[in-house]
Amino acid sequence: MAEFIIAHMYPDLMNLYGDRGNLLCLKRRLEWYGHQCVIKDICLNNELDYQSIDMLFIGGGSDREQGIVYQDLIRKAERLYKEIDNGLPVLCICGAYQLLGKSYTGVEGEVMQGLGFFDFYTQGSKNRLVGNILINSNITGEEISVVGFENHAGRTYFKDKGLKPLGHVVKGHGNNGEDRSEGISYKKLIGTYLHGPLLPKNPAIADFFIKAMAERKGITINKVLDDTMENFAHEQVKYQILNS
Ligand code: GLN
Repeated sequence: MAEFIIAHMYPDLMNLYGDRGNLLCLKRRLEWYGHQCVIKDICLNNELDYQSIDMLFIGGGSDREQGIVYQDLIRKAERLYKEIDNGLPVLCICGAYQLLGKSYTGVEGEVMQGLGFFDFYTQGSKNRLVGNILINSNITGEEISVVGFENHAGRTYFKDKGLKPLGHVVKGHGNNGEDRSEGISYKKLIGTYLHGPLLPKNPAIADFFIKAMAERKGITINKVLDDTMENFAHEQVKYQILNS
């Protein structure tokens, strides 16, 4: 049995539409796999000990909270990018995802600098992109469907055409409602507009992160969980989306 530690960044500021449920899903699945999991809250100005964490999570937030969090994140940016580039599993939802790019221009035209990890920009608009969303993704090495809920003013556009989206929109809006891309994937980082929370209804993505965490600790997870309930929930949402 091993202990996995997941850093929950800014839990008091960035946590929309049940995003915290992603952490509860990872914790429970790690326990079902026979391990322990501790969720460690990292708030503004808290130090982040990368040696002690196995994954990092940031939920979604409003423009105001994004601006507050950015001021803290930028001070952590250099080391954070190095850890991402070294394969640290990271999940960033919506507003947190937007901050990974070069800039985020809010609905009123205020420009927030992004961390600049990836060459994309986000442009806010008065009419929000809202609704259930279905995408296809090959993040796990085979094509899977991924379901969720999106609610964002920002439209994200990749300037670097070499960037890899998390997947492609089957129904819904995704990054910008135009090019059918959704989210971003880079090594063991996923940025996505999918709230929901994302992981409970997409067990393959939850296991993508669990396997990545385990590999970094030199642990092989062979057990196969019974995902009957999770897959039923996934198929129910998928059916509703395809027939709405
Ligand atoms: N404030 C950002 C937007 O409106 C992100 C919102 C969110 O995290 N759901 O696009």
